Amino acid sequence: MSPHKSLLRHIPGVDRLLQSPLLQNLASEIPTTLITDAARNVTATLRERILAGELHTAPSVEEICVQTHREALLRARPSLRPVLNATGTLLHTNLGRAPLSDAALSAMESVARSYSNLELDLESGERGHRYSHIEALLCRLTGAEAATVVNNNAGAVMLALTALAQGREAIVSRGELVEIGGAFRVPDVMAAGGVLLHEIGTTNKTHLRDYRAAINEKTGLLLKVHTSNYRIVGFTAAVSASEMVSLAREHNLPVLEDLGSGMLMDLSPFGLPKEPTVAEAVGAGIDVVTFSGDKLLGGPQAGLIVGRKNAVEKIRKHPFARALRSDKLTLAALEATLRHYLDPADALREIPVLRMLAVTPQELRRSCRRLQRRLSQLAEQLHCEIVPEPSAVGGGALPLT
Ligand SMILES: *Cc1c(COP(=O)(O)O)cnc(C)c1O
Repeated sequence: MSPHKSLLRHIPGVDRLLQSPLLQNLASEIPTTLITDAARNVTATLRERILAGELHTAPSVEEICVQTHREALLRARPSLRPVLNATGTLLHTNLGRAPLSDAALSAMESVARSYSNLELDLESGERGHRYSHIEALLCRLTGAEAATVVNNNAGAVMLALTALAQGREAIVSRGELVEIGGAFRVPDVMAAGGVLLHEIGTTNKTHLRDYRAAINEKTGLLLKVHTSNYRIVGFTAAVSASEMVSLAREHNLPVLEDLGSGMLMDLSPFGLPKEPTVAEAVGAGIDVVTFSGDKLLGGPQAGLIVGRKNAVEKIRKHPFARALRSDKLTLAALEATLRHYLDPADALREIPVLRMLAVTPQELRRSCRRLQRRLSQLAEQLHCEIVPEPSAVGGGALPLT
C-alpha cells in the first residue's frame, strides 16, 4: 500500500462523526439528514484528496467534525436569501427586481396567515372574482375601463395576442421586434401564440402608410411594443399611439401595446427621461396595454392588462388566463402597492424603487458616508472610498439613463 493510502484508515466513518458531541448538539438545531450529508461529503472529499496524493497527513477527528459542522450549517441556510445589491442597477432581474413596500409585505403576510376573501364577495356571500381586488384600483390609476392580472408581462403579452388575434396577423414595426432577455422575443411569442407576424417598415423608420398598406382581411390587430431596453436614435420615424389608434378604428381593429415597465407616474420631475405612462397609452385610445408589476411600478412579479372592457373580457375568458393565474400573495402585494399611487407623495415615500429613483446625490452621499463608517467599524484595516458612479434603472427600463 502506498504511504498516502494508509492515511485512509484515519478517516472516521460517518456514524462515528455523528456521535461526536459537536454534531450531536447541532442535531438539536438542524435536520440530521443535512449533518449526515455534510459528513459524507467531507469524508469523501478527504478520501479523494488522499488518493490523489494531495494530503500527506490525515486531519484529526476533531478537525473533521469542525469541518462537517461548518458545512452542515451552510446546507441549513435557505438557498434563496437576501443579498446586497451593489451593482448600481436598481431593477436587476437576477437580484429579484423590485423590493416591496412595508404595506405590500404586511398585506402578503396577513393574507398568507389566514383565509381570505380571495374569491368571495363579502357583501352578497356569493362567489367573487380574484381580480376584483385590483381591477377598480387599476382602472382608477390608468383611466382604463377594465383590468386584469396574470403571472408576468411576458404572459400578459402572449395571452393578449392569442386571445385577440389567434390564427390572424398582428402587424408590428421592424423597429419594435424586441428581445427582452431570457428568451422573450416578440416574433417567438407570436409564433407560440398562434399569431402570424406581419412585419412592416424598417429598423429605423416606420410610417403610418406602412401600417395602412399592411392591413388586409387576415389582420387581427396592430401591435406596438415599447422598445424598453434599447433606443433607435438618429434618422428615425415611429408612428404615435394615437395615429395607430385612428387607423385601427377605420378598420375596426384593436391596438395592443406592450409597454414593458409601465409607469403609473411621470418621473420626469426627478430628472428621469419622459416615458409614456400607462394612463397616456390608455388616453391615446390603445385598446389593451400590458406592463410588468415588478419593474418601475415597484410591486410583485405580475403582468398587468388594462384597456377596453370587451377586449379585456375576451382576454379574461381565454383558457390560457387560468394557466397564467396570479396567486393570492401576488394580488395582496399588488393591491397594497397600487394603493400607494392613489397619493403620489405616498408612492414616492413608500415604494422602495421610487424612493431610490428620487434620491438626490446629496442624500446618496450621506448614506454612502454612513455605510463607510459602519464598514470601518467592522474592519479597521478596510480602506473604503466614495467615488461617483452612474447607475442604471435596469429591468429593461429607461435604457439611456
Ligand atoms: C420586461 C419586458 C417584458 C417582460 O416582462 P416580465 O414581467 O419580465 O415578463 C415584456 N416586454 C417588454 C417591452 C419589457 O420591457
